[in-house]
Amino acid sequence: MCEVPKDAEARRAVAPVICYPNETLPSVDLGLYRQARGQAVKISEVYAAPREAACFEVKAGQFFRISSVEGSQVGDLNLWNAHNLSERFYSGKTRALHGTHITEGERMWSSLPYLRPMATIIKDTLNWYGMDSFGGSVHDVIGTRCDPYTGNLLSDVHYHQCCHSNLTRALADHLGCSLAEAEPHIHDVLNVFMCTGFTRDTGQYFMKASPVRPGDYLEFFAEIDLIGALSACPGGDCSSEHTSDAAACYPLLIEVFEAPAEALAAWRSPQENGYDRSHGHL
Ligand SMILES: [Zn+2]
Repeated sequence: MCEVPKDAEARRAVAPVICYPNETLPSVDLGLYRQARGQAVKISEVYAAPREAACFEVKAGQFFRISSVEGSQVGDLNLWNAHNLSERFYSGKTRALHGTHITEGERMWSSLPYLRPMATIIKDTLNWYGMDSFGGSVHDVIGTRCDPYTGNLLSDVHYHQCCHSNLTRALADHLGCSLAEAEPHIHDVLNVFMCTGFTRDTGQYFMKASPVRPGDYLEFFAEIDLIGALSACPGGDCSSEHTSDAAACYPLLIEVFEAPAEALAAWRSPQENGYDRSHGHL
């Protein structure tokens, strides 16, 4: 342990500043989205079976809803630009812009060099939860996804139904490619319905039983053409463990809705980020 400086308390008492003040982010017209949603009709649905994943496609201007059915269940969500898989959900920057958990009016942002909204949350039936006394909240962008490599590292097991593997199989099936081709496209997720935080004493990532109940849902507006993949995590409600078949698991429902074109006449799909990409080389 290093020597504690005399002004240690004074240094600790310095007030934090927000890294990325987000008042200048492009504004979100939730009123427009919700008005269009009110006129939308369902055009497709798919279930992610327990300990499996499902892919779905959503066009820019359409809506998708992820619902809890049958029992409390957490889902791991990946998103890609349907025309360019290298543009994919950027969990880290979304966290930097919005915080550790996202809800209504917040967005899933895409990777560099694109960095634009991929999807906007327009309805979250769990947004009453807020932040609990443990520092836990719902729908985090701090976790990664359960994966068999970490399972092998920590427990010396080969478990094949982790979200990483489920997403890999689903994307390979959807694209008609090999598992080896699909796997590098799998990325850090939005943990739908998962209740997580960091312990105050050790700063460790924790999870606790999800407050989600059948009928709860998270609904998104697709800002660009998307391929999505959702895994029904082997952790179930993530109250005890994952990377095993021990937890009770339930399916998740994904539904896609489309509004009449005139409902979104005033809306434009966001452009790729406008940075000139010169990186200082003239
Ligand atoms: Zn998982």
